[in-house]
Amino acid sequence: AEALARGDPEVAEALGQELGRVRGRLQLIASENFASPAVLAALGSVIGGKYAEGYPGARFHAGCEVADRVERLAVERGKELFGAEHVNVQPYSGAVANLAAFAALLRPGDTVLAMELSHGGHLTHGSRSNFSGRWFDVVGYGVRRDTETIDYDEVRDLALRHRPDLIICGAASYPRTIDYAVFRGIADEVGAWLLADVAHEIGLVAGGAVPSPVPYADVVTFTTHKSLRGPRGGAIVCTPEVAGRVDRAVYPFVQGGPLMNVIAAKAVAFGEALRPEFRGYAADVVANAKVLTGTLAEEGLRPVTGGTDTHMALVDVRDAGTTGLAAETACAQAGMVLNRATVPYDPEPPRVASGLRLGTSCVTTQGMGVPEMKEIASLVARAVRDPGAITSVAERVARLTAGHPAYPPG
Ligand code: PLP
Repeated sequence: AEALARGDPEVAEALGQELGRVRGRLQLIASENFASPAVLAALGSVIGGKYAEGYPGARFHAGCEVADRVERLAVERGKELFGAEHVNVQPYSGAVANLAAFAALLRPGDTVLAMELSHGGHLTHGSRSNFSGRWFDVVGYGVRRDTETIDYDEVRDLALRHRPDLIICGAASYPRTIDYAVFRGIADEVGAWLLADVAHEIGLVAGGAVPSPVPYADVVTFTTHKSLRGPRGGAIVCTPEVAGRVDRAVYPFVQGGPLMNVIAAKAVAFGEALRPEFRGYAADVVANAKVLTGTLAEEGLRPVTGGTDTHMALVDVRDAGTTGLAAETACAQAGMVLNRATVPYDPEPPRVASGLRLGTSCVTTQGMGVPEMKEIASLVARAVRDPGAITSVAERVARLTAGHPAYPPG
C-alpha cells in the first residue's frame, strides 16, 4: 500500500476510497466475497509477471520451475477439496471456463439444453447476446409456476424431444439445491454430456453445506471468488475421459498464458477451504441465508421458491408495491449494496425486474450471524417500503458495519 501511495497517489487514493466503500456499507451482492490477506498477497506477487503457456512439465516458456510448483499445488489441493480426478485452474473467469467447456464438448451448431436466463440461468448458458446462444442451438428449461423450482419433468421431456448434445445445470439466480442425480439420469437417457456450472455455490460444495455435482457431471465449471472466497477467476473439474479435451480447450483454444499470480491465489484459497474452519463458514453462510430469507418473508417480501438452501435470498418485491430497480436504489441509498433480479415469469423487463437477490457470503466472512441477519432483513424491508426511513436505516447500517468491519485493520 505504501509503494502504491508513493508511486501513484491517484490510483492509491481511488483504491482507498474503495476500501472505505466496502467497509462503510453492507455488501450483499450474492456473487461477491472478501478474500483473505493471504489470497490478496498472492494476487499481488511477482509471479504475475511470469509467462507459462502450457501446463506443468510441458511449458512453452523457459524458467517455469516455480510456476509449475505453484500450479501443481493448486491442482492437487483442488483435487483433494472437490474429490476430483482432474482439475484445470487456468480459466481467467467463470465465463471463460464455460467457453472452454463448450469448446471441449461441442461443435458450433450442436444442441444445448440449459436453464432460461429469465428463470435464473446465466448469460453463458445460451443467451443470444453471448457466444453460447449465438453459436449453438439452445433450448431453455424453466421453473414451475407453482413451486418456482426446476421442473425436472419438463427437462426430461425437452431432452427427449430435442436430443441435446449437452445439458447444463446450475444457475446464477436460483436459491435451491439442484438434483444432480436426476440431471445425470436424463443426460444418460439421451446420450448428452452433463455440465454443472456451480459458480455461485462452489464454496458451499467445498464446505460440505450443499451436495456436490462432481460425482455426476462430466464437467463442472466454477468461479473461485464467490462463496469460495478466493481470487477473481474460474476453474474446471472433470472426469478423466474428457480431461485432455478440457485442457486443450482452455489452452491453447481459448486462452494464452495463464495468470500465475491468480493461480497462486487459487492455491491459497483451496488450502484455506481445506481447513476445518471452512466447513463452519459454509454452514454459517447457509444458516444466515435461511434466517435472512425467513425474516424477509415475515417482513412481507415473498421468497421465490419459499426459501433457500444456499447463500442466496431471492425475494419478490411486488407485494411491497415496488420494483426490483426501485428497491435496489433505495437499499443503495441506505448503504446496502445488493442487486435487482428477475423472478420467474417476471412481468418487468430485466433492467427493472421484480426481485432482489441478496447473498450472505460477505457478511458471514465479517462474522455476522443470526441477530445481524434479522436486523438486515428488517432494514431492507424498511428501505424498500418507506423512502422517509432511508436516513435512519443508513445510521443502523453504519453501526452494523462498524461492529463487523470488512478487511479488519491488521
Ligand atoms: N456462471 C454463473 C452461474 C455465474 O453466476 C457467473 C457469474 O456471475 C459466471 C458463470 C461467470 O463468472 P465470471 O463473472 O467470473 O466470468
